[in-house]
Amino acid sequence: MTREVSIPNGAEFFEIRFESIGGLGAHVAGKIVASAAVLRMNMNGSHFSSYGSEKKGSVVRSFIRLAPADKAIRTSAPIEEPDVIVVFHSGLLAHPATLSGLKANGTLIYAGHEGDVPVGLSLLPKTAKVIRVDAQKIAFEESSRENAVLIGTLAEAVPTLRRQAVLDALTATFASKSKKIAMANERAFTRGADEVEIIKNMGKLDGNVPTMSSNPVWGYRTAPIGGVLPTPGNTAHNDLHTSRTGWMPVLDRDKCIDCGMCDMVCPDLCLVWSTHTDEDGKPLVKLDGIDYQYCKGCMRCVETCSTSAMTREAELPGKADELRVPLFTELTAAAGGKHA
Ligand code: SF4
Ligand code: SF4
Repeated sequence: MTREVSIPNGAEFFEIRFESIGGLGAHVAGKIVASAAVLRMNMNGSHFSSYGSEKKGSVVRSFIRLAPADKAIRTSAPIEEPDVIVVFHSGLLAHPATLSGLKANGTLIYAGHEGDVPVGLSLLPKTAKVIRVDAQKIAFEESSRENAVLIGTLAEAVPTLRRQAVLDALTATFASKSKKIAMANERAFTRGADEVEIIKNMGKLDGNVPTMSSNPVWGYRTAPIGGVLPTPGNTAHNDLHTSRTGWMPVLDRDKCIDCGMCDMVCPDLCLVWSTHTDEDGKPLVKLDGIDYQYCKGCMRCVETCSTSAMTREAELPGKADELRVPLFTELTAAAGGKHA
């Protein structure tokens, strides 16, 4: 059975933007929500995503544009003034462009651990609805993924969507692969819908969030010819921590034999070594730790370590800053001890 769809405030479209990183399933989630709207809710809809240059770890934006069945959608432009933004990793809230264009009466849903209320939320409109869900914890406990949790939250929070229709679309997506996976996703979806926290009184802005972009400081036209980039491992934000999908490698110095195997497989050269001399005066190198600014959480170091000195641990707020060993101390000092 279908029902008449209402687009709030007489707008042409109802628009949702997912802000994520490769590996968290934002594209698949967008596809599920859009297919639920089109195939099960008698709406018109379109869905598309934009990716960075790497599959895992780079910025992914996924766009869902919905309209009543009698309203054609003739644009595939990125969504600049969304009704809803879903943020798959709370670290992305450190960058104002994540919230770009959110309507004054819009909804922000973000994945964050209990107590994780990023200061970036103050850039939101006073009238926006803000919802936190611990997508990583739920996904881990249900052997699912964050995307199932977050579309559960979305389907429950947004009256334009119908929760059961989105759940049915989720089930249909995974049932053909494995009943066990489908059931795990259904549990994650249901908990995502029900186990949320409404964050109040964070937004300070009157009106919509202004539209903004996250362009790099330098492009090919503006970079100095033959110049030096003083930000090694740089990205648009010079911070790879959002690339880690909730897990981080942690070094146990007592178990490490300094064999260097982890360093050979690390694609981002983020392991930090120091040089010493042994009692015979021979040079030796010692692994001091990891510079998490450049670590994208691929876990190759963990898989390679033969002594279990490197293990995968859940990344709780502040843990990476606490355990970080800076690769470039001069840059860290210039940035006041924080990410350079
Ligand atoms: S592979 Fe393991 S034991 Fe070898 S240097 Fe790395 S952390 Fe230490
Ligand atoms: S998880 Fe390990 S191998 Fe991967 S980027 Fe981080 S330190 Fe390097």
